[in-house]
Amino acid sequence: MNFEYPEDREFFANLLAGGDEKKLETEFSDYFDFRHPAIKRWEFNKTKKKLLVELIQKYDEKCQLRIHPDCGKEMVWEPDHIIPLSTNELNKKLRHLVRISNEKVSAQSFGSNHQKNLTLSCKRCNSFKKHRIIIPRSFYKDDIDFFKHRVENEVFLLSSGKQALVQKYFLAFTPWKGAPIPNTYNNKPVIDWNGEPVFAELAVLRLFQSHGWDGVWVDSYRRKYRVGLPDVVGPIKLPQKHEELIGSIRAKTNRSGGCWDVFVYKGEKVFFIELKRQKKDRIQDSQRVWLDNSLGTCLSSDNFLFLEWVI
Ligand SMILES: [Zn+2]
Repeated sequence: MNFEYPEDREFFANLLAGGDEKKLETEFSDYFDFRHPAIKRWEFNKTKKKLLVELIQKYDEKCQLRIHPDCGKEMVWEPDHIIPLSTNELNKKLRHLVRISNEKVSAQSFGSNHQKNLTLSCKRCNSFKKHRIIIPRSFYKDDIDFFKHRVENEVFLLSSGKQALVQKYFLAFTPWKGAPIPNTYNNKPVIDWNGEPVFAELAVLRLFQSHGWDGVWVDSYRRKYRVGLPDVVGPIKLPQKHEELIGSIRAKTNRSGGCWDVFVYKGEKVFFIELKRQKKDRIQDSQRVWLDNSLGTCLSSDNFLFLEWVI
């Protein structure tokens, strides 16, 4: 594929192919069409109606973006280009071009009308998306449909200078109003999870558990794996293969901390999940180092998940 700039190729390799430029070339070339956007738009408008019918069938009337809180309420559907036909986002983001007087930053032609590059979006999500490029839910093989609100990917800068994009979701919790718990770990917020007092990490674990996953809260403060509140439920051991996976990453990072907050698994699938309370927590460098050292083992950025939460 003929990208105008090498950093554009890198951007799309990160977005679609876990940073693998060869994979981008072999598996995603149908997503791109560098002809003039007007031609592409004309072709698209001719088949738009038919395409929409096909997409509604294919995705069983389920919005593939699911980024707006009112997603799907109106059941008004639109076909959406995953890679936009044209955009100036890369010129703005990667090359930091700015608008000069009345002239907008110039756009580049990228996306194709190929059915692979089209997804189903509800009207709400489509307009909420604006100019962002958002990977549809159908891209993620793992069954984590229980997260309703997806937000823009979190970008991590790796030591190689490359970027890793990690999928990110949003959760709102209810505060615990029952009897106080024995140990709040230095005033961590206590959440009411279906009548059980838990910390945010445990609430996320419960959410996964209720959908057939297993896992632990990686309590780096006391260096234990937990499935319940400290001083209420004792720490547990992980199955050996998972213990070895975490141990091997820890050895590569050369430090004891940094493992992401929650580790879940189901069959061969695993996720490391980092939680961030909205406007409160910041990503630690040790967590970035953890991600950095995990990539290139048997894990890719698809095995990582970022959760922003409020209470
Ligand atoms: Zn939607």
